Amino acid sequence: METIKAVNNKVLDINLSSGKSIAIPLSQSVRREYLGGKGLALKLLYDNIRPGIDPLSPDNILVVMTGPTAGTPSPAGGRFAVMCKSPLTGIFASSYVGGKFGISLKKAGYDGIMVRGKSDRPVYIRIDNGDVSIQDAAALWGMDTYEFQEARKDDGDWMVIGPAGENRVRFAVIASDKRVAGRCGMGAVMGSKNLKGIVAKGNRKIAVADPDGFKKALKVAQKKIIAHDNTGRRLRELGTPQNVRAFGSAHIMPVRNFNKSKFDKMERISAEKIRDQHTVKNQGCPGCPIKCGRIGNYKNKELVSPEYETIALMGANLLIGDLNDIAFWNDRLNRLGLDSISTGGVIGFAMELTEKGMLKSDLKFGDAENIEKTIEDIAYRRGLGDELADGVRRLSKKYGGEYFACHVKGLEVAGYDPRGCTGQGLGYATANSGATHLSGSTHAIETDPLGGGEKSYLSPHGTKGKAHFVKFLQDIMEMTNSSIFCLQTQYPFLEENFAYKYTPKPILRFVMRNLPAIAVATSDISDYCALLSGVLGYKIGRKELYRVGERAFNLERYMNCREGIGRKDDTLPRRILEETGEKGWAPVRLDRMLKKYYRLRGWDTNGRPKEKTMDKLGIPYQ
Ligand code: SF4
Repeated sequence: METIKAVNNKVLDINLSSGKSIAIPLSQSVRREYLGGKGLALKLLYDNIRPGIDPLSPDNILVVMTGPTAGTPSPAGGRFAVMCKSPLTGIFASSYVGGKFGISLKKAGYDGIMVRGKSDRPVYIRIDNGDVSIQDAAALWGMDTYEFQEARKDDGDWMVIGPAGENRVRFAVIASDKRVAGRCGMGAVMGSKNLKGIVAKGNRKIAVADPDGFKKALKVAQKKIIAHDNTGRRLRELGTPQNVRAFGSAHIMPVRNFNKSKFDKMERISAEKIRDQHTVKNQGCPGCPIKCGRIGNYKNKELVSPEYETIALMGANLLIGDLNDIAFWNDRLNRLGLDSISTGGVIGFAMELTEKGMLKSDLKFGDAENIEKTIEDIAYRRGLGDELADGVRRLSKKYGGEYFACHVKGLEVAGYDPRGCTGQGLGYATANSGATHLSGSTHAIETDPLGGGEKSYLSPHGTKGKAHFVKFLQDIMEMTNSSIFCLQTQYPFLEENFAYKYTPKPILRFVMRNLPAIAVATSDISDYCALLSGVLGYKIGRKELYRVGERAFNLERYMNCREGIGRKDDTLPRRILEETGEKGWAPVRLDRMLKKYYRLRGWDTNGRPKEKTMDKLGIPYQ
């Protein structure tokens, strides 16, 4: 059996129009600068895609990329990235998923895949230990993601789309096992290429390049994961729905299409209710010791329990307070291949349009009756579902209501209302893919994560320290997305170190609010450095690793600027900027924060990376 040292340095380039595929090498210098995952996917898109293409045309390229950690014992390191130009936002976007496909792809001999062109009939791609073929999928077209993977499990590990992707719903997901790459419509891009799925099977063994160094780093990392209250206890016990109580009480859970700051049925949809009444067992991504997901019993059916974002957007946002309903919809969304955040966002928007007499539909806040049918209609583009399938921004262009259309750059707003954590507003406004919670998310340091009333590190409503921390957390996120480590590792790796743990909280708060440049510059990312150095066999220092994240963030911004993105797009929905009267809300002083943020980033006043910023990061102008 062949053993590879962490990475193959080989990417498969498949053209579905011609049916041809080639393996392309990755140089050591590109590996060092972009690392893997998001970073390498971006670099490949930058080198291979021209600006201005239609995301649903054969010109779009879908890049699937593993990180150096995939297949090694690195904790929470087995996820993979999918990246392309998004059909929902029209700009570049990435998404991450924890299924087994990524590890099998690497064992088959490739670190990633680029899929170009379009097949003239439904197909799937089969990768079996270096043998690559394009197979007919006519008989498989129409199957849901769970049904499909169950029927074809002997073939290997899959990434697959459901009917929503086939029908090019602009927020269709890609599934791998029972996890999904959820945001920005990657599934629709597969559907536009007539690609039902990709299956990988490999028998190479993956080893780390420096076993002794890695072993030492792993021991420290595992200890920290267990010691941290979030990864060692709360995520295992309550999962991401722990946020319902914490963020519901902090007035940042979206309620009634982002119109209210409090949901009176919050307790009914809490993580504690899931734990006490539904949970059967925990589940997680391969190789993850945290296992934050869970299977629950809902009306005598074992289903994947909904995550916080699904509960927030399909529950509180629609005024639905029944966990059974939300869990059944979650199952339908996963099977059909729909993003629960965008689906909840667009249904909430349609409910308000209907209430205001601007749209004729049966959708009503607090009424569960028509939601399942609407989900199906979106996935199959039937009736009104065909229009909802294009997302909030396009729906508002047709029916009006731009004022309460809650999206940024076309991406429906995730489950954190910036009026209760204003730095999150800056994060949404500047995130490369739109209103995602997965870029520069400051909500956790702007609120008390335990909901017990302890003062947060940054003030929820002020502007102090926000620009520094949004930039820092965006770059850190891009670094973890390039490695690829799960974002949950940021809690133990950034917080379980001597300075952070033993400095009294009031002093930490003072420094983070008043001396953010020092707080950010002294943040400890040495666990990531040590693990990656052990995996790859060369020393990766703090500066080099942080630069990987900063480089990826700026490259994506530059690519989006070439698509027409600028200062005018770095904003928030008008409702969020103008309605601030509810309890716990305050105005988001976006202009003030943006000015500082652009300066810190080295961007001009229109939000474009300056030439010297690009030079400093070694990104060639095109
Ligand atoms: S913490 Fe959760 S999402 Fe992250 S790798 Fe583990 S199981 Fe997957």
